[in-house]
Amino acid sequence: MEKTLVILKPSAVERRLIGKVVERIENRGLIICGMKMMQLGEPILREHYAHLVDKPFFPSIVESMTATPVIVMCLKGVDVVETFRTMTGVTNGRKAAPGTLRGDFCMSGQANIVHASDSVENAKIEIDRFFRPEEIFDWTPANVNFIYGDGEK
Ligand code: ADP
Repeated sequence: MEKTLVILKPSAVERRLIGKVVERIENRGLIICGMKMMQLGEPILREHYAHLVDKPFFPSIVESMTATPVIVMCLKGVDVVETFRTMTGVTNGRKAAPGTLRGDFCMSGQANIVHASDSVENAKIEIDRFFRPEEIFDWTPANVNFIYGDGEK
């Protein structure tokens, strides 16, 4: 099954939204394969947001992403990269659809509570960036045949 990388940003941690986001992940039937708290710093953010390093707002991204520790998660599921991006909603929380995490829990284009990998290729790179191999648990829940139908997984 596919895996994706999720970060519960300082805007989620500070606002005590960790439990609400994790509840939605579990309710959907996504499998948590890795989860830990860590303090990010500028070097890892320069890698992770390499496509934004030259933007004038990059220092502000660093400030907001280092404001508190974050929760990093590895999720597993069929088509989980696309499924979790859809659950996340568009970048600007004010424009994100109701029912999405950003659309229900935030009002910002920067303090938008979650990061979600945007492609299968990037998900692999991002999981390796934030987790050591022994921190990923490739387990299968006992109820997996009730999460997916025959032949789906
Ligand atoms: P996404 O997180 O939806 O994949 P991007 O990869 O474009 O979006 O941006 C990464 C993160 O950088 C965003 O989630 C947001 O926190 C921050 N960001 C993006 N654009 C801006 C901006 N114009 N001003 C401030 N922060 C921004």
